[in-house]
Amino acid sequence: MIRINENYLKLKPTYLFSEISKRVNAFRESSPDTEIIRLGIGDVTKALPQACLDAFHRAVDEMSQDSTFKGYGPEQGYAFLREKIAEADYRSRGAEVSADEIFISDGAKCDTANIQELFAPDIRVAIPDPVYPVYLDTNVMSGRAGDLTDGRYDNIVYLDCTSDNGFVPSLPREKVDVIYLCFPNNPTGAAITREHLKVWVDYAREHKALILYDAAYEAFIRDPSLPRSIYEVEGAREIAIEFRSFSKTAGFTGTRCAFTVVPKSCMGYDASGDRHSLHAFWNRRQSTMFNGVSYPVQRAAEAVYSEEGRLQVRALTDYYMGNASLIREKIKSLGYPCTGGENSPYIWVRTGMDSWGFFDLLLSKAGVVCTPGAGFGRCGEGYIRISAFNSRENAERAMERIARVPNA
Ligand code: PLP
Repeated sequence: MIRINENYLKLKPTYLFSEISKRVNAFRESSPDTEIIRLGIGDVTKALPQACLDAFHRAVDEMSQDSTFKGYGPEQGYAFLREKIAEADYRSRGAEVSADEIFISDGAKCDTANIQELFAPDIRVAIPDPVYPVYLDTNVMSGRAGDLTDGRYDNIVYLDCTSDNGFVPSLPREKVDVIYLCFPNNPTGAAITREHLKVWVDYAREHKALILYDAAYEAFIRDPSLPRSIYEVEGAREIAIEFRSFSKTAGFTGTRCAFTVVPKSCMGYDASGDRHSLHAFWNRRQSTMFNGVSYPVQRAAEAVYSEEGRLQVRALTDYYMGNASLIREKIKSLGYPCTGGENSPYIWVRTGMDSWGFFDLLLSKAGVVCTPGAGFGRCGEGYIRISAFNSRENAERAMERIARVPNA
């Protein structure tokens, strides 16, 4: 008889996207002539940039000759990619990150999920609400979150993100050890200023806490005064791990490449209070459990940093940001307060009714699919998330249809 990890029984059912599909299917059956426009799931829709495709093809050709074939690569990623990232994403912006502090992976999802393995089971974890569900669910699976009482886990410190705090959480009142932050945020689209991020960095330094900073949407920042990395804030190297991804930056959701920065100055402590390098721990974790991202994919990711690659990636993100701005302006003109869409591909809309009620309204009256905010946490109730990942034509048509909905 195999005993199971009973913490899995404490997970809330993955209700959000299955419920959306159920409602969309029911609508399709009742209104077969309405073409549905999906502004719900956060997947990109446009092809890979040409520079990435060319590099990808060249690398595949290398695999076809014994003389250039590549077998297992370094678990941490190839130096050619790690060095480009260190220079272009960090040092050129005044953030001191070296190539060997960068770990290439096949997704920010797995990295943000796996990182909690480095920490003791009884640490206190602070998680924003609403939130990208991976941070919470992986702490539930490991038993760290405790039991579910009235929709919230007993041992989690929830950082409420509401219109009152501009969707940037306030510092926790009780002691926490690990803090998840995500900016630009999924789902709220909120960005954080350098000054505000410094408040968090100072807090973490003072309380010996660690910030897990998810910057998967960094490429959508348009305001030059906003920080793209937590390491642009002084003192962050000692207390922050950062996650990035090529998924949304360069259309790699189906190609899979991301990276995590673990500075060598980041420390954890054992029960006796002795310091240990989190870089060494993550290195050990990755080299034990992961065998690297494929060579052609890393070459394709490297091309993001070429001259043409940069221009193409900028054009790609600009395209989605054009949708974001169109959606944001239209939603605002209809009288709905919203955030995001300026430095993020997500628009977070206050609906004036419950999330699912508004979801049903848009689906039934406009044939438009959004994501109900309640699916991201208690503080998401009353909101919906609209994604800018679609064609311009679909974004325009969706907004025209929403404008014609009587109660919208
Ligand atoms: N982090 C956030 C906040 C996300 O929204 C997503 C994907 O939607 C990810 C991480 C996952 O990225 P990846 O495709 O690199 O696994």
